[in-house]
Amino acid sequence: MGAKSKTACQRIRRAFLLPSRYGFSSTKFLGNLERMVALLKRHEVVGTFPITAKVLEWHPELAGILDGMEVAVHGLRHRNLTGLETNRQIAMMKEAIGIFRSVGLQTNGFRAPYLRWSDSMMEAVSGAGFLYDSSVPSGWSCGSEFDSLAEMTEALRSYGIGGTANKLPTMRSRLVEMPVAIPDDEILIDRLGITNPEQLSRALTAMTAAAIQSGGHLVLQLHPERFNFFEKALDEALKRALGEGAWVAPLGEVAMWWLKKRPGEHNWPQEAPCALTVSGDIDAVTLGDFIARRLGR
Ligand SMILES: [Zn+2]
Repeated sequence: MGAKSKTACQRIRRAFLLPSRYGFSSTKFLGNLERMVALLKRHEVVGTFPITAKVLEWHPELAGILDGMEVAVHGLRHRNLTGLETNRQIAMMKEAIGIFRSVGLQTNGFRAPYLRWSDSMMEAVSGAGFLYDSSVPSGWSCGSEFDSLAEMTEALRSYGIGGTANKLPTMRSRLVEMPVAIPDDEILIDRLGITNPEQLSRALTAMTAAAIQSGGHLVLQLHPERFNFFEKALDEALKRALGEGAWVAPLGEVAMWWLKKRPGEHNWPQEAPCALTVSGDIDAVTLGDFIARRLGR
């Protein structure tokens, strides 16, 4: 099958998966989100939830559910920003920050929709006053069982990842960039079709082990709508990370640490073997949100 028809097939498959992830009402999504937040709280972990601002405006109840968690801006709308002029991007980001404030949420971080970023977007993120960004995809090993799959290589390539990637935060003038780990739950579950909790646990635990071994910062990306699939995997990855003394912290805290870290100081507080962040992008809460996205609202 040609690359174009393959992509078209994947799109159709994903469109069919949507009704199984969301409902016409918000009950299904919010239930999964509540359970994900409860799991993080059981481990005393603060996760980072990047939210598309318009989705937050339509569903302000998200603010209450995410009490005690960190939030970040995931676009004003769920749109690729890279073709837009920097000033236009800054205006959209500021409008998004205003929506967060209107529901009582403070935020100092940004993640690009579709993880599509450019130098001009990074300039805009800085210009809009954010402290950190987490939009650059970074390839992580999730064990030989999965790394060698052709679909995995193809999925990584769709994010422009061909080999080893940066595993530590970097500075872009005043902005802290913390790369997001690929594969995410969308690749593992929807593209590779791995729905068995044991297999997903092995994948996430292998990524955690790679973080401990490399001393890097693993930023997991787990969308709340697939929580019923990755619940066990996240639970086990957190047990492993915390058991090995990893520093598990939200993106804002890691960014602050990185900014204040003195030259020569250990990469992580208390000489932790690695850092781990659990992030979960909120692009939509209902099927209607997808329709609104298609209509450009
Ligand atoms: Zn998204």
